[in-house]
Amino acid sequence: MNLFQEYGLSEDILQAIQELGYSEPTEIQKQTIPFLLTQNEDLIALAQTGTGKTAAFGLPILQMIDTSQTNVQALVLCPTRELCLQIAKDIASYAKHLNLRSLAVYGGSLITEQIKGLKNKPQIVIGTPGRVNDMLKRGALKINNIQWLVLDEADEMLSMGFKTELETILEETPKERQTLLFSATMSKQVEKIAKGYMKGAQKISVGAINAVIKNITHKFVVVRDRQKNNGLRRILDANPDIYAIIFCRTKVESQHIADFLMQQNYSADALHGDLSQAQRDNVMKKFRLKHVQILVATDVAARGLDVTDLTHVIHFSLPDDPEVFVHRSGRTGRAGKDGESIAIIRPSEMGKFKRIKEATSIKVEEMAIPTKEEILRAKEKSMYEKLRNINFNEEEFELSQTPDLTDITKEELYKKIMYLELKSVWDFYQNQKDISPVDKDERSSERDTRSRKGGNRRDRNDRNDRNDRNDRNDRNNRNGRNGRNGRNKNTNFTRFFFNLGKRDNINKIKVLDLINQNTKGAKADIGEIDIRDKFTFFEVDSAYANQLLNKFNNLKFNGKPLSLEIAQ
Ligand code: AMP
Repeated sequence: MNLFQEYGLSEDILQAIQELGYSEPTEIQKQTIPFLLTQNEDLIALAQTGTGKTAAFGLPILQMIDTSQTNVQALVLCPTRELCLQIAKDIASYAKHLNLRSLAVYGGSLITEQIKGLKNKPQIVIGTPGRVNDMLKRGALKINNIQWLVLDEADEMLSMGFKTELETILEETPKERQTLLFSATMSKQVEKIAKGYMKGAQKISVGAINAVIKNITHKFVVVRDRQKNNGLRRILDANPDIYAIIFCRTKVESQHIADFLMQQNYSADALHGDLSQAQRDNVMKKFRLKHVQILVATDVAARGLDVTDLTHVIHFSLPDDPEVFVHRSGRTGRAGKDGESIAIIRPSEMGKFKRIKEATSIKVEEMAIPTKEEILRAKEKSMYEKLRNINFNEEEFELSQTPDLTDITKEELYKKIMYLELKSVWDFYQNQKDISPVDKDERSSERDTRSRKGGNRRDRNDRNDRNDRNDRNDRNNRNGRNGRNGRNKNTNFTRFFFNLGKRDNINKIKVLDLINQNTKGAKADIGEIDIRDKFTFFEVDSAYANQLLNKFNNLKFNGKPLSLEIAQ
């Protein structure tokens, strides 16, 4: 008898979970299923996605629901459309042999269609807070008979700004309901909801609170701003079998990094809110099926993605909120597998990173950007493992000739295969200098400059006070002459870096001209222009970022190709 049977779950449910191959309950299921089957008390469960929490609340609810009744008895709220569909799919698979109906309701699809779905009289509704509220307002959805209210990923729902919607729903469901709150972190906002709307809640936690999950190794590497892209590239090259999400702060940055990687032939794609729902679905599907190895995503867009076997999470830029850092990292190291979280940090982000470390008590070890020797070794090792372990049907896979291998040793053959396989990496790195570590002085001088500037939030590399002041005066004059708006408080600026500076005879007018010529017909706001000896920073309205990246990177200045990147 397995534990599921001992809990007294019905034959129909047992059969469904057996068909799914669940032989024993997961940790969270062990803690919640017997509790929910026997107690009416509310429940707060600290658990990440991937721990089996859908079955943890789903199975007992399915067991207890009255299928002869046609009103909605259970309401599951979750933050995103994708998660909503995932939960609905899981619940449908657990309820496969039950005569029960469930319905998923979420934004981005026709509300009228979803209202029609209510005509089937579902006993369980799974929805995003916004859409559930809309349906309540229209009087289409009735929740006055709810017995179980599940708040899944409560912290996410609150950080996505669904507080009011959640409160309305909590107010409108009967006081006698049982509320089950699942959250990866116990943020202040979550605590407030729990205090205000839950009674005597039983608390359980799976894994560590504010999840420093044991099988995740946390690493960080400090890289100069202008070397970040290549640093990232080296990290990817040193992990040839990587299956990873690279987290960025903005849509533009994630698209830019994905473009950079795709141009270099990496199996990568972008996931962010500027893509249509259909494009996002497509990218997520490709990534889930591992047709794409690397996903470059914003925090919000990655929320709906449920993947359990990521080898790495890479923080390309740090979030402001330490909990977001924990959430990102928790995407790897799931389902008992080992995972690695790597934060790529600019010197100016050291302070922020320190705050994240303190707030989360994560133990991080510093690493260096892989050298070319390390990269080649890693590639060779991965290829060797593949050669040794590949399985194929020798009868079906027939080649046209039987080669004469008498004049070649095994070692020579091995070298030749490796040469074919590694030649392009070998060629690429032959003339590349390794990326040297950022030493202590560089790190602290960056911090000093920042604090002297009175805590200016904008991170800048290689800052020099005097230059900055001159540049700003200069900029104001130039912008005036140029008929541009100058720095407009409402403009969302992207800061760029390109590879030419004073040494290349670059000056403000030339930079303004380059921007003007490459945002033709448009009036892109231009912010600060900061020209250094060998390179230049400038700020332009983010709406023109992609346009500039496309155009600049095809230009030459005095015969030298321009290379434009997004700085932070
Ligand atoms: P969840 O945390 O609900 O997203 O579940 C994560 C994954 O674990 C899903 O793919 C479930 O199908 C799977 N799962 C849930 N419970 C079990 C179990 N008892 N045994 C094996 N797999 C499970």
